[in-house]
This record gives sequence, structure tokens and C-alpha cells, in this order.
Amino acid sequence: MGNIISPLSVSLKHLRTTKSSYASILDRLNTAPGKPVAAPTASAWQSPPAPLANFCSEEFPTEVDVLIIGSGITACSIAYHLLRQDGPKPRVAIFEARELCSGATGRNGGHIKESPYNEWARLVARFGRIAADEVVRFRMAHLKNLLELADKEGLREVSEAREVETVDVYCEPEAWTKAQQRLREWLDAFPDEKGRWRTWEGADLKTKFNLTTACGCITSTAGSLSPYALITHLYQRLLTTYPTLSLHTNTPVETLQGTPVDPWRRPISPLQPYSVFTFTGSSATIKATHVVHATNGHVTRLVPGLKGKLIAARAQMTSQRLMPEGVGLPGGADRSWSFCWNKGFDYLTIRPDGAYMLGGGFARGPSEGLEAMGNAKDDENTIYEAAYLGGLLPAVFQGTVKGTVIESAWTGTIGFSVDSLPWVGAIPEKVAGGRRRGMGMEWICAGYSGEGMVNAWGCGRGLAVMLRNELYKENASTGVPQAMLITEKRVKKATVEMMVEDYLD
Ligand SMILES: Cc1cc2nc3c(=O)[nH]c(=O)nc-3n(C[C@H](O)[C@H](O)[C@H](O)COP(=O)(O)OP(=O)(O)OC[C@H]3O[C@@H](n4cnc5c(N)ncnc54)[C@H](O)[C@@H]3O)c2cc1C
Repeated sequence: MGNIISPLSVSLKHLRTTKSSYASILDRLNTAPGKPVAAPTASAWQSPPAPLANFCSEEFPTEVDVLIIGSGITACSIAYHLLRQDGPKPRVAIFEARELCSGATGRNGGHIKESPYNEWARLVARFGRIAADEVVRFRMAHLKNLLELADKEGLREVSEAREVETVDVYCEPEAWTKAQQRLREWLDAFPDEKGRWRTWEGADLKTKFNLTTACGCITSTAGSLSPYALITHLYQRLLTTYPTLSLHTNTPVETLQGTPVDPWRRPISPLQPYSVFTFTGSSATIKATHVVHATNGHVTRLVPGLKGKLIAARAQMTSQRLMPEGVGLPGGADRSWSFCWNKGFDYLTIRPDGAYMLGGGFARGPSEGLEAMGNAKDDENTIYEAAYLGGLLPAVFQGTVKGTVIESAWTGTIGFSVDSLPWVGAIPEKVAGGRRRGMGMEWICAGYSGEGMVNAWGCGRGLAVMLRNELYKENASTGVPQAMLITEKRVKKATVEMMVEDYLD
């Protein structure tokens, strides 16, 4: 999804001049979203829906070692790495509020793309050089890891997973100058990457990329896939292979209670500390030793201590077809595109069947994106953003793209981390609302700020390792960058104000 921080920061900066509006937007950002709304917009990836879309395992488990809340790529990665690992197999239950994979994973752009040159300097300023390098390398490894996963599981074709040449298009001189400067600095710091990145200007823009209105572009490597197909097929494999896994769709977790305590405040049953109440028409209860919040922008509903640290934001996607009289973009499905502006950017992947999956338009609405922040209602489209996306390609590729038809438009929820890095690990008890625990813990794996395809699989794998280390006293390394781990100190430090001050001042 990309960097929506900068337009947001501009809007907030404006707002600071009118103190009451600023206070009211901060208020909204500090409020937890409701549970996922019923009847969300349908994404093109979900047509047709996966056979498991409304699946429920026959038995409703009453006790498990690990309960995972959510069923997107994060939950799948955690379950996959818990179960595919040699050794004992934990009892795992996955509870999903709506259809399987109906959150951001089933409705995103399918773009596996880290833009290190745009991110790195900001990461260095905030977390230091070592941490920034670690984060960027971790993210860049996702392309290879996801393609290897698709190969290993025989899902390359069905998931449309492939490497593509990616083009960052700059149409505004200021943004283009800044991008070249950032790319130079980043390549100086990562000399092994030289040769994989190239800048283009002048006549090449027209002859090689059909670009008539751009100042310049940068090419490198990225990936494209259908995350919905990959993840729903992986669930199918896991369910048929591991009897200790159960999956329950349309099963929202309504409340979470800690270990019941005796009159002396000692846990009554330290082995099964958490009771989780679900509501599926009638109330049901499950006892779980460990509970994982893999709920993306909805985390703060059950983890109020992260309010104002992890914010839901609504993002717009479209699937478009070229009008027959136009010429397709050069490179077809073997290229992906980002259209980078002074404020934010838009992103395009092209499916093998010719569908143009174009997302973004953030900040093109009347309040420069502010109405999207703190908004987890993916049951409606944002008309301004959809209209902008409908006109984008003919405007950028004037003369070749003669027009497009929007075949479908949908929205989804991003889990936005205010300090820009995901939150991964055992949630400090205070942050989890003071719920008492016995032998188990509450865990989080969320907050990819719109870049889940280069964060979620590795974060989920790391979280599974943490859980196995805890359950079976294994001692494996997690591979998760240190700066992404959740600690009380980091939670305290991360504020919405910090995001606003840091990004544009
Ligand atoms: C429109 C859009 C476009 C995007 N494009 C890209 C892109 O091109 N590239 C990229 O890298 N990233 C992109 N992203 C971001 C990426 O999709 C996400 O970061 C990633 O999918 C998050 O995966 P997840 O498993 O953590 O969360 P999700 O897939 O959102 O899964 C969380 C699940 O939790 C469920 N849930 C919530 N509360 C409860 C509850 N109380 N009980 C039970 N279940 C609950 C939800 O229903 C949901 O299914 C995009 C996001 C959006 C919204």
C-alpha cells in the first residue's frame, strides 16, 4: 500500500493551526475501532470465494495451546510455522470474525515491494543505523521467501506469484529530485545493491515505458501475487495435514478474560490462563494458554493498551480493464508500477489475465486522507479515491492508455503503527489491559503500515518460533529485527504526536 504517512502528516500539520479540530482528530486516532463490519465490499481476488471461505472445523475446541485471532497472512504464517516445524505439534485454533481471509490479505494490491531508498534514512534517524539496515534487509528478503514458499507448496500458478520488474514513476520535479538523492544515499550504504537499481530520464521514458508526463523513473525488482489464493490454499493444506489445527470462520472473539483468581489473587488455573468468549449466535468459551492477536487494524479492540499506537486506516483498491482501443502498459504482467507523488503514492500490479489492480488515491479526498484514519469500515468505497484511480492511467500514459473501465472497487483496513514498525512479541501485561496470566501469554503480530507483503510472513514466522520456544523450551532464533519487538518502553515512546512531529518538521 505504501507510504500514506506523508499526506497524513501534511493534513495534521494544517490542523494544528485550528486546535479544536486537531484535538478531535487525535481523539479519533486514540479510539479503538469496532469489530470487523458485516458485509464488506467484495474484492476481485475473492471472486470466486475460496472453498474454505465459510469453513468451520467439525469440533469446537474447548482447550488449546495457542488461539490465533484473525485469519490473514499473519495468522497463516504463525500456524504454518508452528505446525510445519519438526517436533511436537501444538493444539492450535484460529478464530476469524468474517469469512476466511476477508481482511486486508484478501483485498490488497498483491504487491511484494520494499522501497528501501524511500524508507531507510527515516529509519536510521529514528532507530539508528544497525536497526535500519536490519529492517530493510528483513523486508527485502520477503520476495525470495514468498516465491520459495509458493514453489515448495506447489502454489506458484494458482497464487500467480512471480518476480516482476518494478517501475517507480515520478511526475513532479520536487519528488523526482528527492528520490534520486535518496537512492544515491541508500546505494552508498548498500553497495551490494548497486546494479539492481537504475534511473531513467529523457527520451527513454517514452520509448521504454510509454511515459509522456513523467520527469523520471527508477527500476528494480519486486513481486506480484494473489495473497488470497496463496493463503486460502495454504490453510487447506494445513487442515488436511495437521489434526491439531482447527479453523472457525464467522466466529468473532468478543471478549478476552485473564486467568480467574482466588480471593488471594492467585491464578486458579495457571495452565490455561485465558478464557476467550466468542459469539456465533450463542455464546461459547474456549480456554487457551497462549492468545495471539493477528487482527491487523482491529488489535486495539481487545488490547486497549495499544490505542494510539496502532491505528486502523481505510484504503481503496480497484480492478480495471483497458478500453479495447488503448495500448497496454509495456511489460504487461511482468512489470509492476508505483506512481510516486510529493504526497504519497499509488501502486499497480497487472494479473496474468490482464486485470489492472490499481490502489492508492490516499489523500485525494476532501480532507486529504484524514477521514480514512481511525476508519475500519471496509463495507463502503471512497468515491473520490476510486474516481482518481479510474482516471490515473490515461493521465500518466497519455496517448497510449485511452481509458479504463473499473470492474470492481473495494476497500480494506490497514493497521498503521505510529512509529512505523510492526509490533511483534509477547504483550507486556500492563499493555494487555492488566489481564492476569498463568503459564501462558498474550502475543501480537501486527502493524505493517500498509506493507504486509514484505513484513507479515517473516513476522509470523518469528512469532511462531517465540511460541515454540515458550511451549517446548526450544531455543531457535526468531529472525525478527530487534526494533520490531514490542516492549513497554517502545509502547510508551510511540505516540501519534511523535508521528506528526517526526515526519514533516
Ligand atoms: C486496500 C489495501 C491494499 C493493500 N495493498 C498492499 C500491497 O499491495 N502490498 C503490501 O505489502 N501490503 C498491502 N496492504 C497491506 C496488507 O494487505 C496487510 O498489511 C496484510 O494483509 C495484513 O495481514 P494480517 O493477516 O495481519 O491482517 P488481515 O489480513 O487484515 O487479517 C486480520 C483478520 O482479523 C480478523 N479479525 C479482526 N478482529 C477480530 C475478532 N475480534 N475476532 C476474530 N477475527 C477478527 C479480520 O476479520 C481479519 O480477517 C494493503 C492493504 C489494504 C487494506
